[in-house]
Amino acid sequence: MLSTDLLKWFEQNKRDLPWRKASKAKAYLRDPYRVWVSEIMLQQTQVKTVIPYFNRWLQAFPNLKAFAKADLDEVLKLWEGLGYYRRARNLHKAAQLVVEEHKAKMPTSAEELAKLPGIGSYTSAAIASLAYGEDVLAVDGNVKRVASRLFCIAGDISEKEVKARLVIHLPKGQAGAFNEALMELGATVCTPKNVACETCPLQKYCQAFQKNVVADFPSAKIKKKVPHKMRFGLVYLKKDKVFLQQRDDSGMLAGLWGFPLLEEIEKEPKGLILPDVKHAYTHFKITVTPILTKTKPKGNGELVSLNNIETLALSTLDHKILDELKKAIEHE
Ligand code: SF4
Repeated sequence: MLSTDLLKWFEQNKRDLPWRKASKAKAYLRDPYRVWVSEIMLQQTQVKTVIPYFNRWLQAFPNLKAFAKADLDEVLKLWEGLGYYRRARNLHKAAQLVVEEHKAKMPTSAEELAKLPGIGSYTSAAIASLAYGEDVLAVDGNVKRVASRLFCIAGDISEKEVKARLVIHLPKGQAGAFNEALMELGATVCTPKNVACETCPLQKYCQAFQKNVVADFPSAKIKKKVPHKMRFGLVYLKKDKVFLQQRDDSGMLAGLWGFPLLEEIEKEPKGLILPDVKHAYTHFKITVTPILTKTKPKGNGELVSLNNIETLALSTLDHKILDELKKAIEHE
């Protein structure tokens, strides 16, 4: 059976990851808080990047109550560098909701979990199956890719279709292990490139392998052109302090501190122009020309000592601007 072969393979080949510790109460179930934090961190982020963040997080916030009590600035600081900061803000908001409205007990079904901020259909199913043993399928990008090859699904791979194909293979009472095994297979064997079919436990069930058309699945997507934004960054330095602003509570870098960015400036800049700084987000690329200005930028903000700047949460883009500033100071 597909599920038996997959689970056997998983048992022998699973990676030892810090969030894969079983719950104290039931050896085959996981701690929901750890599953939740790891699943949110792993969205759009590689396992090797997440591991140190996850370990630091657990040291700072060992359980849900401790995390809910934490200051948002502290949360964002720990998240610094992981990107997609909305994930951290939603995680925090949801933890506070669980404490206030559910007596610090996380909902146990995928349906109820999905009502919390930042928890979508995949994450809710992952938590419900891994931590509470609910028989639900969790379909992420890895599972979609594996399914597209197993069942030769051409074109767009919808979650609905993947679930319809996989549900007949879901072993009752073992959905957590089944979900995780499929994801592991996608991450380590049935990878986007250099597929290792020779070591795959599902060869005999895999339609693409049997027909020798693995390279055709998933069907290639048309790459969208990513917009490129150009901005000026105002770097105002007074003695050993720089002017920083905390970004609004909404938007992509909400709550983080950074240098004021302008779409355009009225006159040719008077200050020293530092080397351009580039950064790529999922939906756009940005190039910032930092200007060492002698005029304090308009708007709210604070002068922060360069020695204390590490206590604030800055985006990767702002760290790059800061690095250029430090280089300029060293060369003065
Ligand atoms: Fe993926 Fe190859 Fe296994 Fe099929 S046989 S599931 S293509 S690794």
